[in-house]
Amino acid sequence: MTSYLFTPPAVQSLAIRGKTERFPINRLFFVGRNYHAHAVEMGKPVDKTVERPFYFTKAPQTLTHSGATVAYPPETKNYHFEMEMVVAIGKAGFRVSQENAHDVIYGYAAGLDMTRRDLQLVARDKGRPWDLGKDVEQSSVCTEIVPMEGQIIDKGAIALEVNGETKQSSDVDKLIWNVREIIADLSLFYHLQPGDLIYTGTPEGVNAVQPGDTITGRVEGVTEVALTIGAAE
Ligand code: MN
Repeated sequence: MTSYLFTPPAVQSLAIRGKTERFPINRLFFVGRNYHAHAVEMGKPVDKTVERPFYFTKAPQTLTHSGATVAYPPETKNYHFEMEMVVAIGKAGFRVSQENAHDVIYGYAAGLDMTRRDLQLVARDKGRPWDLGKDVEQSSVCTEIVPMEGQIIDKGAIALEVNGETKQSSDVDKLIWNVREIIADLSLFYHLQPGDLIYTGTPEGVNAVQPGDTITGRVEGVTEVALTIGAAE
C-alpha cells in the first residue's frame, strides 16, 4: 500500500440527482466567449467563420457546491459572476465527431464561473495566462449532476439574479459553439474522461458582486444554482 508523507487532497465530487453514488471530478474545462452578446460586452466579438473556440481550465480543487457561502476573494476589486450550463462527461472520448458527441454525455448541471475580472483583463491585455483571474479558490460553483445520458441540450432559458434582481437572461440556443461542437472540438486537444466537466460559457450581463450578495441562477430543464458572497478574507 502506498504511503504518503501527508494526507493527499480529497477527490472532488458532486451529488447525482436520484443516486447515492457521487460523481467524482476529473478536470474542469471552461469555454471562453461562447455567447455573442457576452463577447461584445468583453470588447472581443467572435467571428465563427474564422475562429475556433478556446478554453481555459481551473483546478478541480476550485469546485464549490451550490448553496455555499464563500469569502470574497483576495486581490480583486471586481469579482464577477458568470452563469453557465455545465456538461458532465461520463465516457472517455478522443476526436469525437459531432454526430457521436451525445455518447460521452452523462448529464448536466448549472454552474457559476466566478472571475476576478480586473486580474483577468490585465492578463488578457498583457498576453499573460488567465490563472489569477480565473483559477480562483472556490470559484467553480456547481449543482448536483442531473443524469441525462446521451442527451443534447440545445435550447432553454439560462438566467441569473443577484439579490433577486435579474442580471443575466438568455437562452442556450444562443451558444456560438453548441454542445456537439464543443465536445467535438475539445476532444481534438484532450482525451475526455469520465468526471470531466465542461462549463459552456456565459451570456451577457456579467457584473460584480459585493460581500453579502446572494446569487441565484438556473438552466431551464436542468436545475438551479445558488451562492452567497461572504465577507472579504
Ligand atoms: Mn465563463
